[in-house]
Amino acid sequence: MSNQIAEVTEAISEFLDSHRNQEVETNLCSCGAITMTTFESSDAIQFKSENAPFIKSTNDMILDNCNHCANNWGVDIDEEYEDEEDEEE
Ligand SMILES: [Zn+2]
Repeated sequence: MSNQIAEVTEAISEFLDSHRNQEVETNLCSCGAITMTTFESSDAIQFKSENAPFIKSTNDMILDNCNHCANNWGVDIDEEYEDEEDEEE
């Protein structure tokens, strides 16, 4: 689990690095994921807020859905190792 935090932290710092002079916007989704984007580009990363406790949403509005819950996209989602921990019957 702490491994995911490290992965997300690295992805965030890379994102901020490549958008150094741009204003970054973060939005919380009802699924608990945060979407980080900039006003000047269409680049965006998604991650669970629990994997980035140091990131606060810059927007009061909570999204109904995001790429994390709708498309299963996210820097903390490893497509190769689908560990489905929440098994439903
Ligand atoms: Zn979502």
